[in-house]
Amino acid sequence: MQEMRNPGMQDVVLVEKSLADYEPVVGEDIIAELHRMARPFQGARVLHISSTAYGGGVAEMLHTLIPLMRSAGLDAHWKIISGTDEFFTVTKNMHNALQGMELELTPAMKAAYLHSNVENAVYFENDYDFIIVHDPQPAPLRMLRAGDGGKWIWRCHIDLTAANTTYWNFLRPYVQAYDAAIFTMPEYVKKDLQIGKVAIVPPAIDPLSPKNAPMSDEDAARIVSLYGMDPERPMLVQVSRFDPWKDPLGVIDVYRAVRQKFPDVQLVMVGSMAHDDPEGMEYYQRTKDYADGDPDIHLLSNIDGVGNVEVNAIQRMATVVLQKSLREGFGLTISEGLWKGKPVVGGDVGGIPLQIQDGETGYLVNSIEECSKRVLELMRNPARARKMGELGREVVRQNFLSTANLRNYLRLFTDLTQANRARHHRSAV
Ligand code: UDP
Repeated sequence: MQEMRNPGMQDVVLVEKSLADYEPVVGEDIIAELHRMARPFQGARVLHISSTAYGGGVAEMLHTLIPLMRSAGLDAHWKIISGTDEFFTVTKNMHNALQGMELELTPAMKAAYLHSNVENAVYFENDYDFIIVHDPQPAPLRMLRAGDGGKWIWRCHIDLTAANTTYWNFLRPYVQAYDAAIFTMPEYVKKDLQIGKVAIVPPAIDPLSPKNAPMSDEDAARIVSLYGMDPERPMLVQVSRFDPWKDPLGVIDVYRAVRQKFPDVQLVMVGSMAHDDPEGMEYYQRTKDYADGDPDIHLLSNIDGVGNVEVNAIQRMATVVLQKSLREGFGLTISEGLWKGKPVVGGDVGGIPLQIQDGETGYLVNSIEECSKRVLELMRNPARARKMGELGREVVRQNFLSTANLRNYLRLFTDLTQANRARHHRSAV
């Protein structure tokens, strides 16, 4: 079996963020409530464990959640598991299978998955009060550290509604070893999961991060020009990993249908390559082939230097933001688009309807035809598009900002601590 380059977990270096900076965005009551909820957890040792520090929604959120936990007085950290290439290929399969793909799970795949987890587990020095393990990649860690103290929480970011049974049955015992599990929506909780506590927590975006912070129209226009787009022409935008579930080929079909009526429309697809996503490159190439050299289809990635500030500019210059996913745990890109006052047209799947109220903040669609029709409607009616975007921004302000995410975690920590006290109390009587 292939050995890992760097056995054990690596610390992620985080920037500092202050809750006080969020007061102008969410109001002083919310910030005061967060400080009040965090009072019992001053100095509490919290560790988040995930499989990548860059690319994808989980990494995006942790770069804000953990600094905000620190700002609230918790001693919060983040570690990334290491794994062989084989491990990441298996976990990508697992991700796809848990979202419903028919894939096989061979003994060799199980072995590669467990081998990397064992390596991460044996080098782990645990002195934490709360350990939050994100997604299936590191899920066995709890069982492998069964004797450890602390409250262990498994945070599932994916839509398990149609999970492949073979994969779920394999994963389930590892998940059941946790004290609690967090899911994005109640529908994602498998009926046969036996666990002490389940919490429902939607993901969130950071209104002050370089991706979402205010930016002038002039700056946004300059940035998109730099990458070869014309800020004067209408622009459809989808920001997503190159992944079959995000339907990039369908997005190109939508663009082609729209171009029949608006010949000057441009399509921008931004998709960073995450290091835990070996499929990304291959699907990028497929998308590129499908675009067939069309100069008005701009395929960009972190390899072209498109980072958070550029994504911010591109989303701001969008006429319509698309998220034509066929399956989607949540889809941070939808809240990102709405926060920038854009109408969003998204697939009617997973966590997308949580964010888009059909006909009010955008549209939910089930096909290329429906998607094209809605995009055309919005392009023909800029006043309605603007109104939807404004409404969407308010929905995000109230529900999907990082401060709400922090509150949800603090509530779960409180519940788990109280459950503990109740148990002690019972056994003492
Ligand atoms: N993202 C990015 N650059 C890209 C592609 C995606 O910064 O080229 C970000 C995107 O803005 C969002 C996150 O990655 O914040 C993707 O999260 P989402 O929940 O939409 O999808 P996931 O990748 O987790 O399936």
